[in-house]
Amino acid sequence: MDEHVIRTYVRQPEVFVAGNGARLLDVEGREWLDFLGGIAVSALGHGHPRLVEALSDQARKVLHVSNLFRHPYTEEVAGRLARLTELDAVFFTNSGTEANECAMKLARKRQRMLGHPDRTGFVALEGGFHGRTLGSLSLTAGAKYRDPFAPLIPGVTFVGRGDLDALERALRARPAALFVEPIQGEGGIYEHPTAFLQTARRLCDETGTLLVHDEVQCGTGRTGRFLCAQHHGVRPDIVTIAKPLAAGLPMGAVVVAPELRETFVPGDHGSTFAGGPFVTRAALVLLDELENGLLDQVVARGARLDAGLRRIAAERPIVTELRGRGLIRGVRLGRNAPDVQKALFANGLITNCTSGDVIRLLPPYVVTEADVDRALEILDATLAAI
Ligand SMILES: *Cc1c(COP(=O)(O)O)cnc(C)c1O
Repeated sequence: MDEHVIRTYVRQPEVFVAGNGARLLDVEGREWLDFLGGIAVSALGHGHPRLVEALSDQARKVLHVSNLFRHPYTEEVAGRLARLTELDAVFFTNSGTEANECAMKLARKRQRMLGHPDRTGFVALEGGFHGRTLGSLSLTAGAKYRDPFAPLIPGVTFVGRGDLDALERALRARPAALFVEPIQGEGGIYEHPTAFLQTARRLCDETGTLLVHDEVQCGTGRTGRFLCAQHHGVRPDIVTIAKPLAAGLPMGAVVVAPELRETFVPGDHGSTFAGGPFVTRAALVLLDELENGLLDQVVARGARLDAGLRRIAAERPIVTELRGRGLIRGVRLGRNAPDVQKALFANGLITNCTSGDVIRLLPPYVVTEADVDRALEILDATLAAI
C-alpha cells in the first residue's frame, strides 16, 4: 500500500520489522545478514541494549528543547567530536547534505571575512557525492543527479580523480573551498591515494582555499580511525560527518578548525531540530562505545573481512578489484554486479550495488566474527553460482 509514497526509490518488497546486531528479521520471520547497515548508518547494529536503554530514558526526560537553549549533551558531543577529529568547534545538522550546505556557507563567509568576497566558487571531484539539496547537489558531479534540476549554483569546477594538474589550475582560480570525499562511497568505494590528499592539502594552503572533507559516509570510525583523513596525515579545515553519528537517528555535524570557530555569528545559520537531547544522547552512546574498544573491533573485523575478500578474489575471476578499508568495502565485478547484488539478497545477505559495478559492504561496527565469516560464505557461494 505504497501508492501515497513518492517514488524516489526503487524499494525491495521485503519488510523488515525487527533486528538484533547485524541481523534483520522480515515480517515473515526470515533472518537476513545486514551488510548495508541502512547505508552506513546502523553503526551499533539493531536493538543495541545500551542505545535502547539510553533512548528510552531520554524519551521519558526530554526529547527537544530547540537551539534557543543550552543542553549538556549537545555540549558534551561537541567537545568529544572536537577532540576525536583534532579540530575545534561544531555545528550540528540533521543530515549529511545539511552538513555540506553549512560548510559551503561557512567557506563563503570565511573568505568574505578575510577580505575576499569574490571567492565564492567551489571545486569538487568527479565521482564525489555530497547530497541532494540544491547547494550540495551543485558539488555532486554525476549528471543523473544534477541534470533534471539545472540550473544549479554557478562557479563550481569539477576535477577528475587523481588529476593534480587540473586540481592546481582550479585552485589557482581562487575558489572559496575544495570539497573532497576521502573515500567516495556512492562513487564505488574509490579511495583517493595519500599522495593526492596530501597534495590537495598543500595546494589549498598555497592558494588560500579552504579544504572541506566530506566524511559523511567514510567517517565516524568506519575505517578504523575516527576520521579517514587521519590515515593519511591530513587535517582538513572543515569536516562533515553524519550517517552513523547517532547510530540510526538523523544527525550530522560540521567540525571546524580553530580559525573558523568565529566565522558564524548569531543569526548566520541555524536549525530547529539539530543537535537536540535525543540525538546527542544516541551519539554519546556511539562515541562511548568507539572509545571503549569498538574502534579496535572495527579494525579487527575489517581485517578479517579483507582477508576473506582477498581469498575470494584470488579464486573468482569475476572479481576485478577490491576497494576500501575497515568496514567500508567495495568488491568490483567484471560483469553482472546488479544481478549479483540481487542474488546475494536472495541468499540472505543485504548489500547494495553502487557505481554500476561495485558491490558495497557497510556492515554495522558491532558485526561479529561469525557474521563476517557467514557473509563471506554467502558471497563466495553466490559468485560461484553466477
Ligand atoms: C549520504 C551522503 C551524503 C548525504 O547525506 P544525507 O544524510 O543523505 O543528506 C553526503 N555526502 C556523502 C559522502 C554521503 O555518502
